[in-house]
This record gives sequence, C-alpha cells and structure tokens, in this order.
Amino acid sequence: MPFCPKCEYEYKDSVKVCPECKVDLIDEMVQDTSETEYIELYMVSNRMEADVVISLLTEHNVGCLIRDLRLFPVLPDFGRRARLRVAVPKSQAQEALKLLKEAVEDGALTEQGRFL
Ligand SMILES: [Zn+2]
Repeated sequence: MPFCPKCEYEYKDSVKVCPECKVDLIDEMVQDTSETEYIELYMVSNRMEADVVISLLTEHNVGCLIRDLRLFPVLPDFGRRARLRVAVPKSQAQEALKLLKEAVEDGALTEQGRFL
C-alpha cells in the first residue's frame, strides 16, 4: 500500500495524496520495507494518539507503520471510532508490545487503544 513520506501513514491504493500533509504518496515497493513483514499490534482512534505511539516506538528504534482504515468498512467489534492500526516489523513485535503496555500503564497514552 502507498504511504506518506512525511507522516508515514499508510493508505489504500486508490489514495494518491496524503489528506493531512498534502504530499504525494510513495509506493511501498520502492522502500526496502517491502522485505519486512509487518504485523498489526495496536489500534487507536485518532492521529494525536497515533503520533504518541510513533514517537514512543521510533525513540526505541522500533520501526512502525500506521494503517488508516477509514476507507474500509468498519466491522462492529472495532468500536465506533477506532480506525488507525499500528503495524510493526514482526521481529520487533515483542519489544513494541512491551513498550506500548508500559506506556498505557504510565498514562503516556491518553486514550485506551486496543491491542490486536
Ligand atoms: Zn501525511
């Protein structure tokens, strides 16, 4: 899926420009992340919360992608607002999970996201 080079959010194929940053999306295939297997770990419902997660993970050298699910049908058990999924490289999933759980306990994450 294409993603924004500025905020690193990932979008559906039909999206060409990041609605937040107004910059052209980059095809994921041009990046070496194409060899990395990402798994979805956590879900939040707004960008501010997602940004907290991104800074937390990158601070600890854990790569991450945010998948924006707004253009997909929302299943009932996702909750009414939840729509952004945090994906991390499979090799770093354990570390990312630990960091996120600590952040939730510390109250660094202002909203209760969902672990997937
Ligand atoms: Zn963007």
